Parts: sequence; C-alpha cells; structure tokens
Amino acid sequence: MEASLGIRMDEPMAFSPQRDQVQADGSVKKHEQNFKLSGVKKDIEKLYEAVPQLGNLFKIKDKIGEGTFSSVYLATAQLQVGPEEKIALKHLIPTSHPIRIAAELQCLTVAGGQDNVMGVKYCFRKNDHVVIAMPYLEHESFLDILNSLSFQEVREYMFNLFRALKRIHQFGIVHRDVKPSNFLYNRRLKKYALVDFGLAQGTHDTKIELLKLVHSEAQQESCPQNKSHVITGNKISLSGPAAPKELDQHPTVKTVKRPYTNAQSQIKQGKDGKLMKQSKTVDVLSRKLAPKKKAISSKVMTSGVMRKTASSCPASLTCDCYATDKVCSICLSRRQQVAPRAGTPGFRAPEVLTKCPNQTTAIDMWSAGVIFLSLLSGRYPFYKASDDLTALAQIMTIRGSRETIQAAKTFGKSILCSKEIPAQDLRKLCEKLRGIDSNTLTLTSDVQGPAARDPAFSEKTDHNVSHVIQQTPEAQHPGNSLHKDSNGCGGSLNTDTISLEGWNEVPDEAYDLLDKLLDLNPASRITAEEALLHPFFKDMSL
Ligand code: ADP
Ligand code: MG
Ligand code: ZN
Repeated sequence: MEASLGIRMDEPMAFSPQRDQVQADGSVKKHEQNFKLSGVKKDIEKLYEAVPQLGNLFKIKDKIGEGTFSSVYLATAQLQVGPEEKIALKHLIPTSHPIRIAAELQCLTVAGGQDNVMGVKYCFRKNDHVVIAMPYLEHESFLDILNSLSFQEVREYMFNLFRALKRIHQFGIVHRDVKPSNFLYNRRLKKYALVDFGLAQGTHDTKIELLKLVHSEAQQESCPQNKSHVITGNKISLSGPAAPKELDQHPTVKTVKRPYTNAQSQIKQGKDGKLMKQSKTVDVLSRKLAPKKKAISSKVMTSGVMRKTASSCPASLTCDCYATDKVCSICLSRRQQVAPRAGTPGFRAPEVLTKCPNQTTAIDMWSAGVIFLSLLSGRYPFYKASDDLTALAQIMTIRGSRETIQAAKTFGKSILCSKEIPAQDLRKLCEKLRGIDSNTLTLTSDVQGPAARDPAFSEKTDHNVSHVIQQTPEAQHPGNSLHKDSNGCGGSLNTDTISLEGWNEVPDEAYDLLDKLLDLNPASRITAEEALLHPFFKDMSL
C-alpha cells in the first residue's frame, strides 16, 4: 500500500496555483484556503524580512508546522552543485529565553545527526530571530497510518525510537516531550528522527553544558506550556462527592473547584520576555472539569517527608484537611512546589503529573510506552486529558489505583482516590480496542466502530473500555468514520487497509515490554538501552 504522506512535496502550498474546488460548499472552502494561503505567504515574507540572509540561500516553500514556540518551514537550498536539497527551517519565537534557544541548538549539534536524532545544518540569527536549518525528513501523520501499520513495522518503529532515546539519554538529555509529532517517521524509506528539544532538560550529569542552565524557575515560567503548578502548598487536592451508586462500575474522575484565591504574587516572565509580577489567582482550579459522569476523586500530596525539604511551612504529617475535600489554612500557606512539568498531558509520566521534583530520563520511557500503547491498541491519542489529575486518573484505570498509589509513595507523593480501580490486562485491553477477538483471533465488528482518532480515554467518555467502544460517536454513526486530522489530511480508518499482518499473533514479549515501559515506578522502569535488548526485538540489530 502506498503510504500517504503528511506533506505533499509536489504542491507547495504557498506557491502552487490553487486547484479549483467549486462544489456545493466550494466557495466557502476556497475562501478559507486562500485565507490560509495568504497567511502562510505573509509569514514567509516576514521571515525573509526578519532574517534576510535566508533569502540568499533558501527558497522557502511552505509552512509545515506551527506550535507555541516555533514555526517550521520547508525550504529548498541550492548550496552545492547537484540536486536541490530539502531543508526544514525552524523559526523560534523571538521571546524564547536565549539560554533555552542555545540549549535546544546544543542538543541537536552535540547529540544529533546520528541514531535517529535530528541534526543541524546551519543556524541563523538576526537580532532576536533565530532559525535552525535541519535536513528535511518527509514524514507520515501518525494518525493516518496508525491502523495500517503491520506488526513488524510497529516493532521497527519502537526499536528506532529506543535507539534515539538511548542516544540522547547517554548525553544526559531528558527530552520531556516524546510523542509522535516529535518523532518523524518516513515509512517508505524506513527513516526516523527525534526532533524538538525545545523543552529538554539535563540530568544532573548532563554532557550538554547549556542544559545545566535551564533549570531555574524563571526559565520554566517563561514557557507558556510549561508552567509549574500554580498551587500553593505541596499538595494538589482535587476531590468530589462520592460516586453515585449507579456509576460505580464506571470509574471516572470528579473534581471540584478548590476554595482558593490567593493573591500572593510571583515573578513570572511575560510574553515580551520581561519579568513581570503576576497575580497568583489559580485558573487550574476553576477549569471546567468534572463533566457529568465522573466519579473517582483523587488527591495528590507530597508526603510529610518531602514537605520538610520542599516547603517553608510546618511539616506536620497531617493537617486539618488531610483526606478531605477541603484545603485548610495550613495548606494554603505552604509554598508551591516547583517541578518541571513540560510536555503533553496524555504522555506525562505519573511522577511528572504529581510534580515529583527529581525527574529523570525515565519520563521519556513512559512517553514511549504511551506511544507503544497507541500502536498496539490502534488508538491515538490514547489518553486525552486537559489537566494532570484527569490524566492521572486515566492512568489509574489502566494500571490500577492501588498500584499507582503505591508507586507514588516511592517518590514521596501520596494520592487519595475515592474508589479502587483494578489494573487491566494489557493484552486484553489492546485487543479489545483494536477490535481483535482474542478467542477467535479475528477482527470483530468493533473495528468498524471507533476510529483510530478516538482516544481510548477522553474527558468526554466514560472511563470504561467496553463503554468507550460502544459510546463513541463513530460507533453510533459508523458512516461518519472519515476524519480530518490536524494537518488536514483526511481519513483515519479505511477497512481496505486493515489487515491482520501479524496482529493475530502478537507475542507476549510485546506486552511484557509495554508493561515495563508503563512501570509506575520511575526507578524500576526499563531504560532505552535495556529496551533495545528486550526479547521483543530478538532478531533486530543496531
Ligand atoms: P515545535 O516546538 O513547534 O513543536 P518541532 O521541532 O516539533 O517544533 O517541529 C514542528 C513540526 O515541524 C514537527 O512536528 C514536524 O512535523 C515538522 N518538522 C520539524 N523538524 C522537521 C524536519 N527536520 N524535517 C521535517 N519536518 C520537520
Ligand atoms: Mg514539537
Ligand atoms: Zn491541610
């Protein structure tokens, strides 16, 4: 089957004439597209103006990525005699902290260029504009190919991801944002590249000198995505009424607003890069959580031992509000715990979600485990949570509440959960979600129901797998299973592309490796080096 690539090389968006799409609603579509097109054109013009030296070397063709911290463009370069070369130009937002920018670049230059880690060709700067030029790797949209990958391709994908992670971890780099859009995959060429060191941090013995400097709170705070929890005290306390009886079977999370409006101010770095004082009113707590049917309440706190070091207030083991859904005045007076919390909620390890201050390269292995979970279950994103406690509750529904609570103790966090949820069998879970009947080893009709893009867990759906399968909108309207993903690439599930290609005989080693990646305890979680030697990859070599 021909792979559908996320980016169409033959039709650069910014310069190719528009294909006419006059249909019933064509005029509207065309208008939108022209609008987007002129936006991209303008952005490209602005980039040439901001960094004029680019004009001498590159022809910028299209914008291929836009995130909070950067825009990425596809360009061609005529640098030497020979064919044109495709280059990815990453324009970092001018408000990024200079050390942050330099550290990202140093990760790429020192660790990159081999073992599936993206390298750098050039870097350009004019005033506060920095552009990193990298070799361009044409790549797939994960969602588009998820359900057409053969089992062997999944093995290769994971093996190559671990090669990249082993490489960066050897340099003492914690990537902190491992997810499919940061691991480029060219299916046809079997090429892979780990990108985006924009949130990376160093281990205590990192070999990346500049990563030693990116730990300070001010730099943490300069990243909008990367705010430390704005919660006073050492505990995150979210709770709700006990689960209504009829919902007991369907574990979910319920959270309520915490009575907290502390006007203490904190130093924050503003958008313009200047330090500014900001009132510390907590929106984390006023978020619109707890949609109708959620029923597990969870509460995370730093255990008494940790409090001594992390807090300036009385380190008593218990206070007025311990194990209740209130926050007492002792807790309100606790200093907030600062812990790095970069990344995307659904990929965050339990120690990240609970703000454990000593985080290691193990957090990247957890994220790799979540990717593996998507590949084995055919669901992406697997966890879809807009906040950390929902994400934690979703983890509990897979790995078990008792197990999660026990593991959290090892890194000094105590979690309160209103309900005990058993751990799930990973094979059964994945086979159910993928739509493989484990008794007959055939594809079940469920395959026609939920599409790849339906998260196995989302805030909208009940956290019970069998219900997810029955309740997704696609299950109710099977005809509606074609989707546009964020890149505008259509189609996520095509029954023609579904084949058992190895999926009927997934070896136990796959689930053993998954279990070791999703180890709730970071201290015992498998490392990248160990993962490469796991029996799952027995006939593969580096
Ligand atoms: P951000 O920090 O904004 O997420 P990334 O470095 O992750 O920036 O790049 C954003 C997107 O741009 C990636 O998901 C990928 O689609 C594309 N991209 C980045 N680098 C390259 C590259 N070297 N080759 C091809 N595409 C790239
Ligand atoms: Mg990225
Ligand atoms: Zn208290």
